[in-house]
Amino acid sequence: MEFEAVIGLEIHAEMSTKTKMFCRCDNDSFDKEANINTCPVCMGFPGQLPVVNEEAINKGIKAALALNCEIQTYCKFDRKNYFYPDSPKGFQISQFDEPLSKGGWVEVDVLGKNPRKIKVRITRLHLEDDAGKLTHVRNGSLVDFNRSGTPLMEIVSEPDLHTSEEASAYAREIQKIVRYVGSSEADMEKGMMRFDASVSIRPIGETKLYPRAEIKNLNSFKSLESAVDYEIQRQTDLWNEGKPLISPTTVGWSDEKQETYFMRDKEESDDYRYFPEPDIPPLYFEKKTIDDLKKEIPELPNVKKKRYMEEFDLPEDDARILSDDLKLAQYFEAVVAKSKDAKKAVSFINTILMKHLREELISVNEQKVTAEMMVELIELVNAGTISNNQAKGEVFEEMYMTGANPKTIVDKKGLKQVSDTSAIEAVCKKVLESNAQSIADLKAGKDKAFGFLVGQVMKEMKGQGNPQIVNEMLRKVLADL
Ligand code: ZN
Ligand code: MN
Repeated sequence: MEFEAVIGLEIHAEMSTKTKMFCRCDNDSFDKEANINTCPVCMGFPGQLPVVNEEAINKGIKAALALNCEIQTYCKFDRKNYFYPDSPKGFQISQFDEPLSKGGWVEVDVLGKNPRKIKVRITRLHLEDDAGKLTHVRNGSLVDFNRSGTPLMEIVSEPDLHTSEEASAYAREIQKIVRYVGSSEADMEKGMMRFDASVSIRPIGETKLYPRAEIKNLNSFKSLESAVDYEIQRQTDLWNEGKPLISPTTVGWSDEKQETYFMRDKEESDDYRYFPEPDIPPLYFEKKTIDDLKKEIPELPNVKKKRYMEEFDLPEDDARILSDDLKLAQYFEAVVAKSKDAKKAVSFINTILMKHLREELISVNEQKVTAEMMVELIELVNAGTISNNQAKGEVFEEMYMTGANPKTIVDKKGLKQVSDTSAIEAVCKKVLESNAQSIADLKAGKDKAFGFLVGQVMKEMKGQGNPQIVNEMLRKVLADL
């Protein structure tokens, strides 16, 4: 029997707000001492009143709008009851039957061997607060409540995904969008974005959903992919053995063993005894509030990508690289605005600059080559002062390392491009004299020999010959032979 996997994702993203969801504690605890950002509210002391963080609501609305969700005119918070040492209140404040938003979708580019676009429906985006963090040590567990009360967005997808590749591409698209609207930094390394993946299997052709396994708390794209692949294989084997899952289960993922393990039978919502949070009044949104927030949403990555393809005639891959990251896109647009040379801007940014950013895992704002310097570099090439190769090679490398201006580097190194035709002609003649074999090859139709000769001329001129003039001159001298 042939099977297909049916996958849905719940994504939790920590919001980039100044303070926590229901208290005024600092929401930035990165690298801070444990339990330093806490107060009676986020520690769940009795009699303390939570107050909703307006910034979190607004950023939640912006993310929901960017995901094409419908903002509900009315929403409320509910208590989701469970007992675990990371939750001092004994419940999480979440949203149950009246969430912030419902019914969105995103378009996702799935890359890889079989590139395609898929549309993934989004069930809802709701808000809640995060729990503390447990660290298990030899003789017990330590708890840090700094994270307790951090605002979270939970983004729930419909089961529209069918492979680990699609699940990961979808998760990356969500990451891009929440970053674009400024609702979350969604930094995986800092645990700001976590996935729960529900996986089930069905014989191809069937439309019903079979019991699923929900893989909890995946914290990297790689573990998401591996865990989903593992679970698809495990459930396929179970089907083939004639004993498919008969009820939903909750499983964990071990990065070490690269396998899922049974945690518990999946709890139904009844088990949480949801009830309306009595300390927080429901929220009502006016159309004007929503419209004003809508205006703050920037051009989104997919739209930007399409615009780059049309406006600058870029191939889709180049347009995607630039639009993936809002800061990089802004950098690119600044370079194009001044240099008026989109082709060179793309070629310089996506190759030489991106190579460094990828190697060092840094963003465009964390390196020394400003957009103005990039413009200057492009202008030096377009004015014929230096060659493209010189620009991309030693000049850029020096700019990147030292932060010096390209003009200064060119002067200091004496890197002028030679455009003097008589000088180039002399070198061409000299090279041809000592390469009789290549001339013979050319006459025999071996066009490659021409490239070799150009290379020899450039070498002789220490890379400073104007490539266009070298090409033309070489053809002329060859024709005159
Ligand atoms: Zn607090
Ligand atoms: Mn949740």
